[in-house]
Amino acid sequence: MSAATSDSIFSRILRGEIPATIVHEDEHVVGIQDIHPQAPVHVLFVPRKPIATLDAAGPEDAELLGRLMLAAAAYARKIGVAANGYRVVMNTNRDGGQSVYHIHLHLLAGRPMLWPPG
Ligand code: AMP
Repeated sequence: MSAATSDSIFSRILRGEIPATIVHEDEHVVGIQDIHPQAPVHVLFVPRKPIATLDAAGPEDAELLGRLMLAAAAYARKIGVAANGYRVVMNTNRDGGQSVYHIHLHLLAGRPMLWPPG
């Protein structure tokens, strides 16, 4: 695992220490434009609570994990991509392709997604 979650790039963005384009903000979840977008829409839904990976989440995080999903779905509706569709992804640990160890849900939209993913 890389940096402790409180030192992760997303914790630093949430603390306002480094700039980012914030597209959604509520009490529990922040939506950040991905700096290297992989689709016309690529937003990361990040909990304010710094959980390192999905594997580190526990039953006490069930509601928060649901909030990430619902925030992504609401944002997709808001920007008009829900009807065409989108993908949500949470890369987890090394083989999952996780690079930032502060959980985040990717919302990808604006083009047809491929399956299987790489
Ligand atoms: P993952 O590889 O699933 O952990 O996703 C991390 C994502 O964070 C990648 O898609 C990166 O492009 C994105 N990312 C890294 N640094 C920043 C940043 N400073 N602002 C916005 N997105 C970032």
